[in-house]
Amino acid sequence: MRPPLSRRLAGFGTTIFTEMTRLAQEHGAINLAQGFPDFDGPDHVKDAGIAAIRAGHGQYARMTGIPALNAEISAKYSRGYGLEFDPDREVTVTSGCTEAIFATLNGICDVGDEVVVFQPFYDSYRASIFMAGATPRVVNLRWPDFQFDPAALTAAFGPRTRAILLNSPHNPTGKVFRRDELELIARLCVAFDVLCISDEVYEHLVFEGEHIPIATLPGMAERTITLSSLGKTWSLTGWKIGWAVAPAPLSAAVRTAHQFITFATATPLQWGAVAALRSEPSYYQTLIHDYRERRDYLCEALTRLGFSLRPPEGTYFVCAGIERLAHVRADAEEPASDITFCRELTRRGVAVIPPSVFYEDARLGRDYVRFAFCKRMETLRAAVERLERVLG
Ligand code: GLN
Repeated sequence: MRPPLSRRLAGFGTTIFTEMTRLAQEHGAINLAQGFPDFDGPDHVKDAGIAAIRAGHGQYARMTGIPALNAEISAKYSRGYGLEFDPDREVTVTSGCTEAIFATLNGICDVGDEVVVFQPFYDSYRASIFMAGATPRVVNLRWPDFQFDPAALTAAFGPRTRAILLNSPHNPTGKVFRRDELELIARLCVAFDVLCISDEVYEHLVFEGEHIPIATLPGMAERTITLSSLGKTWSLTGWKIGWAVAPAPLSAAVRTAHQFITFATATPLQWGAVAALRSEPSYYQTLIHDYRERRDYLCEALTRLGFSLRPPEGTYFVCAGIERLAHVRADAEEPASDITFCRELTRRGVAVIPPSVFYEDARLGRDYVRFAFCKRMETLRAAVERLERVLG
C-alpha cells in the first residue's frame, strides 16, 4: 500500500504546539509553550458575539466577510496607517490569519515558484508554501540578535521568486523589523517584481520601536497582501477571525482560494469582531501596558535564573539562551539539545517551545528556547517559582 500521507506533507509530523500542549497536560506543567492567553478577551467583544447568536445570525456569512466587518477593517488601516482599502473589493475576512496565509499562497503561487521566508519561522509557513506547490528559500535571522545578512537576503531573490512571506513583529524571535530592513526588502520586491505577504498579527504588541506596515513603503502598496487577525490583539485566539487586505487584483486571487478552503468565516464571531475593531484607543494602551509588565517580569526572572536573553521588541514571546543551563538537559546529544531541554523542563513543570522546529536546519535553533508570556501575572509568578526550584 502507498503511504497514506502525501509527499507534500511527508516529514511534517504533528505541529510542536499540539505536541507541547499535550506534554504539558500529561505532566501538569504550566504551559508557556503554545502562544494563547490564559485570560479571556474583552466583554464588549464577547457580548457582541453572543448578541449576534441570539439575533439569529446563524447562516453563512458573505464569502468575503460581513459588510460591517469589512468596513471596520478598512477603517482600521485608514485610521492607523493611512492605507486605503475598498471594503468590498480589497478586504477579505478569513478563518484566522493562518487561513489567510494559506489562501494567499494558494491564490498567488504556481508550481515551481519560490517564496522567501526568514527562519526561524512560524511552522505553518513552510507547510503552506509546500501545499501551494511552491518551494521555500530561507534567510537566517541569526541567534542571538536576530539580525539578517543583507547579502543573504539579496541572494535569495531570483527569477523564480514569487513572494516574500514577512512577519513583523516576528514569531518566535520578538524582532520588530526596522525601517531600513523593510526598505531593503521593498527594494528587492520591486526590483524582482515579487509580491509581499505581510503577517502583522502582533502589530499592537510592540514595546520598542514602531510597527511599520511594509505596504506603506514606496512601491509596496500595489504588491503587498497585508494579513492580521483578532486573536492576539483581543486575546481571542480560539475565535479564528483573520483578514487579508490588498489591492483588488491581489484580493481577487486570495478570494479565489479562500472560497474553496472555508468559503466563509463564522458569522456571529464576525459581529464580535466588528465590536473589537471599534475599541477605544485606551483598549490598546492597556493591552501594551499589561504586556510590558509581563515581559519585564519574565525577562528579569529568566536572566536571574541563568538564561541569556534580550527582551523582545514585540510579540508575546521571549527567546532565551540555554548555554548556561546544560545541567537541565537530559542528554547533550546533537542536534536536538533544545528539544531535550524542553522535554525535561516540561517534565519538571514548565512547558516551553524548542525553536529548532522553526528552522530548515534544526541545528541553528538548538541554543535557545521560546517562552510565551501571554499569561496572567499569577501564572507567570507560579512558573518562575517552579523554575527557581528546578534550576536554582
Ligand atoms: N501562534 C501561536 C504560537 O506561535 C500558536 C500557534 C498554534 O497553536 N498553532 O505559539
